[in-house]
Amino acid sequence: LEKLTFYSEVNHPRFDYTLGVFFGQLLGINTIRVQSPTEAHFNYSREPGGAIQMHPHGAMWNDHIEPVKVQMDNWNGFPAFFRTGNDLLPYDFLSAAFYLISRYEEYLSHDPDVHGRFQAESSILTQSGCLKLPVVHLWARHVGALLTEKTRLQPQLPTYKMTTTLDIDQLYKYRHKGLLRTLGGFVSDVFRWRKTKLKERIKTLSSDSDPFYNFSNHLKWHRGIEDVLYFFLMADHGKFDKNISHGHPQMVKTIQELEQQDAVRIGIHPGYQSNFQTEKIAIEKERLDQLLTHPTRLSRQHFLMMELPDTYERLEQLGIREDYSLGYSTHLGFRAGIGIPYRWFNLRTNQTSTLRINPFCYMDITPLHYLQWSPEQTMKFLKSWTDDLRQLGVHFQWLWHNESLSNSERWQGWLPVYHYGLDLHRKG
Ligand SMILES: [Zn+2]
Repeated sequence: LEKLTFYSEVNHPRFDYTLGVFFGQLLGINTIRVQSPTEAHFNYSREPGGAIQMHPHGAMWNDHIEPVKVQMDNWNGFPAFFRTGNDLLPYDFLSAAFYLISRYEEYLSHDPDVHGRFQAESSILTQSGCLKLPVVHLWARHVGALLTEKTRLQPQLPTYKMTTTLDIDQLYKYRHKGLLRTLGGFVSDVFRWRKTKLKERIKTLSSDSDPFYNFSNHLKWHRGIEDVLYFFLMADHGKFDKNISHGHPQMVKTIQELEQQDAVRIGIHPGYQSNFQTEKIAIEKERLDQLLTHPTRLSRQHFLMMELPDTYERLEQLGIREDYSLGYSTHLGFRAGIGIPYRWFNLRTNQTSTLRINPFCYMDITPLHYLQWSPEQTMKFLKSWTDDLRQLGVHFQWLWHNESLSNSERWQGWLPVYHYGLDLHRKG
């Protein structure tokens, strides 16, 4: 790694953490603290000296969580906030990066949705229309270019990668649900005359097939993809937790067969109820661990239910090392302004966690339901977006379900979008 001499009066765990992500992960540079600004490549203070200077904004480097004024400007062709007035670098990108990646605004008072979730509309990135830009990458790249110009250091942007992820909320649409649920479903579909569903049901009864059970195709679909993640819902049945029983032979068989595949990793999908009855999450993880060759360290919240810092603290205590829940169902883009995996910083304890956040930027339901895009529109968007993200070395992670690959009901026509997205990655 290249070494950057760095001067700062600031000393705080939040600050050291930010340097690690901003310089270490996004630019491939180690920072070494020096005692005076004149010895430094990078002077992060208001004292004169150093090859490059950035004035600290100050609001982030303390133990507090309190409302901070964020004024989003357009500077040099990209969004920026925390203006501090220096000529060369008029914004404190380090404080701004910390504000976003720590999800500072989610700890402040906000207007949650019906499930108690932080809403995209409450975030500064959505309000200023730049959620689709991984802004922290843009800031790092800008600083990196200045470093090359002023110090001859050669920063390295991260390498573009893709991870495809599937949530298995319901292994089957119709089969193996037990006589009562099956009969009830039939009666309700007849009464409401849901013709498509009835046709599917009858077809399912007369053969082994089920629209959601498409796992035998996955190996073929994922050929050439290096990272394929499945998150299984192992929760007891409930209003929002609708999988067949965790112990059903078909669940066991499916999970164990998938785990054998080279590129596949399996994680837990903590049920909706586990957010309120928190003892449930350990039970659900244990159910999955019983089926796997190693205890899982991966997790994604069902419904993306998440409240900071409680949810992540729970996962951490459970031995989860990688969470995949950071993103929105309602909007495409980067909830934290960053598109690579990074360690979670707990603002309550002011400590860097052992838990890593793996942000996703695209969810199957977003274009279909919230944006009301056609599959064609979505593919066109994906093409140009992927081109941009590739340049920045984003780790593109997206979220699908076995349901959304089913070609069933509202998902008709969306399987080609999945193939198209995987192809964009393969051909790059
Ligand atoms: Zn789910």
